[in-house]
Amino acid sequence: MQFKKVTHVLFDLDGLLLDSEVLYTKAFTTVCAKYGKEFTWELKSSLLGFQGHECAEKITKTLDLPLTKQEFMKECGKLYEVLFPSVQLMPGAEKLVKHLHKHGVPIALATSSSKESVALKMKDHQELLDLFHHHTMGQSDPEVTKGKPDPIIFQVCASRFPEKPKPEDCLVFEDAVNGVKAARAANMQVVAVPDPRIDLEQLKDATLVLKSLEDFQPELFGLPPYGA
Ligand SMILES: [Mg+2]
Repeated sequence: MQFKKVTHVLFDLDGLLLDSEVLYTKAFTTVCAKYGKEFTWELKSSLLGFQGHECAEKITKTLDLPLTKQEFMKECGKLYEVLFPSVQLMPGAEKLVKHLHKHGVPIALATSSSKESVALKMKDHQELLDLFHHHTMGQSDPEVTKGKPDPIIFQVCASRFPEKPKPEDCLVFEDAVNGVKAARAANMQVVAVPDPRIDLEQLKDATLVLKSLEDFQPELFGLPPYGA
């Protein structure tokens, strides 16, 4: 087999299970435009996987905005309240999570987002959120001292399964280059489902790159196949 068998699965949230990256882009673009600055794709792609305060720091510095990172986060926060409750799931997300849960595969969420942000975004998807054994929410978690590409979020997340799986027994799903780097640094296999604008060269460390979660074949990693 090309891939190693896994027992536990860790999911990123934004841009992977949820189509929320477009909404972050909308909020950041709006706030930057208010101060006459352009929020570019180049900047956006460098932020994927960061915690909120790390994004705010990088944006305010890179674009030289006349705002502190706290002020920037506050302005974005007002927009999130309007944008996030209507966020949609990515194609194939619900099917995969429900499938793994149904077959007793332990699954967890490993997101850089805060608890409040997850609550806002998952308001209409609570049923799906409840299928995870636990949620590791980086920005609200004192053990997660850094955002991705640091591996700590995946290490902390894996350690919270009662079975304490080894890194090589864990499979990570990610959409971001920083997330792929974090998973690989944690010594876990990682399936990348990136934004199509991301240069594949940046994802060369991913175990597998897919266009959509709908294309994932669980049996490749020793997980129960669909229809089983
Ligand atoms: Mg993501």
